Amino acid sequence: MAGRVAGKTALVSGAATGIGQSVARRLAIEGARVAVADIDERRGAEVVAAIREAGCEAMFISLDVTEEAAWQAAIGAVESAFGGLDILVNNAGIAIIESVDKMSFKDWRAVMAVNIDGVFLGTKHAVPAMRRAGGGSIVNISSILGLTGEEKASAYSASKGAVRLFTKAVALECGRDGSGIRVNSIHPGYIHTAMMEETCRRDYGDIRTGLAELGKLHPIGRVGEPEEIAAGVLYLASDESKFVTGSELAIDGGYTAA
Ligand code: NAD
Repeated sequence: MAGRVAGKTALVSGAATGIGQSVARRLAIEGARVAVADIDERRGAEVVAAIREAGCEAMFISLDVTEEAAWQAAIGAVESAFGGLDILVNNAGIAIIESVDKMSFKDWRAVMAVNIDGVFLGTKHAVPAMRRAGGGSIVNISSILGLTGEEKASAYSASKGAVRLFTKAVALECGRDGSGIRVNSIHPGYIHTAMMEETCRRDYGDIRTGLAELGKLHPIGRVGEPEEIAAGVLYLASDESKFVTGSELAIDGGYTAA
């Protein structure tokens, strides 16, 4: 199938729903063979079925991004099923919102485990596979809260800020070693997903009010859609961005422009 990532293979973590699902679908429609990786096996299988119904190629991989052995198995499974790994989208993430004095150390560690340890482990094991494939693109989903702070989001912001600089450090390593591996981060504004609906209910009482109020924080005047993040991932995953590495792409309706 022709497409902007035709012939490439991809693994998307946290792809059972939200932004990850949209990314997996878009990469598949654009010709990649996609591994939908998530802890949510039921929803992950539904995403795979939908991709296959559209005539594209996908497989489900059960992956907890905090488990190193699970990453090794996942990347091995992609290499044996698809013949190599070209694209890794480190998308799985969680948010625990609490003031710093009330945040338990367990919750702090849980956020760090998924949001930054998971990105480290995925990258660590993807790099050798991409070397074997002759190059690749790693796209790390950070956040506007990896660029600016937010009250009650100390753990989340710290984890997403870490993703931003981890990305740049690895981009330097991979740029200079001639491996042909590029590494970039994306910084979404508020995007209408389950994670955001939880924020709406918690902070504004209901989803509709929350969407309207959170929309006002973005100069464009609305929250974003998962497809708008998938479009950025597609660009960074494709060869159209072959001179782009270590960059941070804000897709945020102007949130961080101020
Ligand atoms: P979501 O909660 O809708 O979906 C997250 C997915 O990750 C789920 O399928 C979940 O099962 C999976 N997941 C959670 N923990 C996992 C683990 N340990 N291993 C594997 N998979 C796991 O979230 P979303 O809104 O689609 O967010 C996706 C990414 O985008 C996250 O990294 C998030 O921090 C980031 N982000 C989201 C927004 C937003 O407003 N929605 C804004 C900025 C950044």
